[in-house]
Amino acid sequence: MTTTHTLESIKTAGWLKEANLIGGRWVQADDGSSFDVENPANEARIGVIPWVGVAETRRAIDAAQAAFVDWSMTTAAERAEKLHRMAAIVRDNIDALAAMLTLEQGKPLAEARNEIKLGADYIQWFAEEARRINGEIVPSPWKDRQILVTREPVGVVAAISPWNFPFSMLSRKVAPALAAGCTIVIKPSEFTPYCGLLYGVLAELAGIPAGVVNVVTGDGAVVGGELSRNPLVRKLTFTGSTRVGKLLYKQSAETMKKLSLELGGNAPTIIFDDADLDLAVQNAIGSKFRNSGQTCVCTNRFYVQDGIYDEFARRFTERVRQLKVGNGFDEGVEQGPLINLAAVKKVESHVEDARRKGGQVLLGGKRHALGATFYEPTVIADATPDMLIASEETFGPVAALFRFKDEQEAIDAANATEFGLAAYFYTRDLARTFRVGRAIQSGMVGVNAGVITTAEAPFGGVKDSGIGREGSTHGIEEYLSLKYLAVGGL
Ligand code: NAD
Repeated sequence: MTTTHTLESIKTAGWLKEANLIGGRWVQADDGSSFDVENPANEARIGVIPWVGVAETRRAIDAAQAAFVDWSMTTAAERAEKLHRMAAIVRDNIDALAAMLTLEQGKPLAEARNEIKLGADYIQWFAEEARRINGEIVPSPWKDRQILVTREPVGVVAAISPWNFPFSMLSRKVAPALAAGCTIVIKPSEFTPYCGLLYGVLAELAGIPAGVVNVVTGDGAVVGGELSRNPLVRKLTFTGSTRVGKLLYKQSAETMKKLSLELGGNAPTIIFDDADLDLAVQNAIGSKFRNSGQTCVCTNRFYVQDGIYDEFARRFTERVRQLKVGNGFDEGVEQGPLINLAAVKKVESHVEDARRKGGQVLLGGKRHALGATFYEPTVIADATPDMLIASEETFGPVAALFRFKDEQEAIDAANATEFGLAAYFYTRDLARTFRVGRAIQSGMVGVNAGVITTAEAPFGGVKDSGIGREGSTHGIEEYLSLKYLAVGGL
């Protein structure tokens, strides 16, 4: 897949904004501070964004609060119509937006296209859900009173997002918030701010009133600190690391905000002796190497049963060897760069640790000749539970293969982590499907399936992977609160 879109054409078309949107006005930081944004593939400067502080963040929150008065009173049909329009604009411009995503994030163009499409799917899904925010009339214990239950927008929402899926992660925050009748202040990752600022552009194009969508860019601790402490913000939705998620959980306690936290993972994939090996190998590629292994639902640990371990290791390694690494814009590339040098160093430390503890590097195991942010697709056999790769999210293109003997051993190993976001297993045994499916402690489980995210299904984790769900019919609940109205004197 190639593209005719360039940085210049994307800028000229108005997709790439180098300003913040506060109360309907595109502005710079009060003191003129700015931050350079780099292309992770070659560290070339893409552009510059405002680097705002507490004062601008407060103004954005105040603007969202002011806009909430009217927006929360719009009809569901009006909000649905605006979101449908937003989804259509995204779909109509998918190639330009995918190119912008590859530029700032590095992922191959085909993956970027899938992410933009997924974002449009979420926006459309919540456009549809806007019209189904129904209430209840409950049989009353009193003859002279009726009990009504309504679901109302929580108020101003703050959304803090990561760099690995900068467009789709925000779609499942912005769209349900707006569908519910909430207004929003977005703070995207500083590494991929353009996909966040894009929501300001999309809101304007879709005819969403000024102040309903605001976007600020700045230091995580400063802007995020204000968003999590400001009493006007009634809901904080965060996707990112468990470390920052826990910090925000604490900071939000003071003002008792509603919270959704989509945090880190350490996904296991279990491959049983009775698995369809071709399917397991093929799916393992997607679930490990998509986005260069930088997804929260990426397999971090492969548990392979004794009887097929060597065969799986051989076939999988051969398939990984064929992965084409390169700049995401180049034809046929399946693995791009990592987001930055710090990410490469983390991967290196995990591989070195595994080597030291007896891991066999079957493939890769070092930086790629293409440049500082590229790492070779790597397979490590003989992985053991004492390795860093067993307990921490590697967030890179490294597949660690652990050997196991029986079902219970695999379940125990899969669950031996503080995380519980995604898990996968491969079997052709129906009883085992249900047994293991029930035993795995995880918010999402793929059985004979490697990539399972879709707007129709609830996305989210248990344990240290977070609280709340995004997408599905449940995703909108995160932006609503129940009100009980007792109407007496009847
Ligand atoms: P991160 O936690 O470093 O940053 C996420 C966001 O938080 C960024 O916008 C950042 O600027 C901001 N931030 C940083 N410090 C902050 C602070 N002190 N207060 C408030 N905000 C702050 O995470 P990342 O490196 O951008 O993303 C990778 C992580 O995100 C991985 O752990 C991955 O598993 C996780 N993730 C989870 C999901 C999910 O749905 N569960 C999806 C994608 C990524």
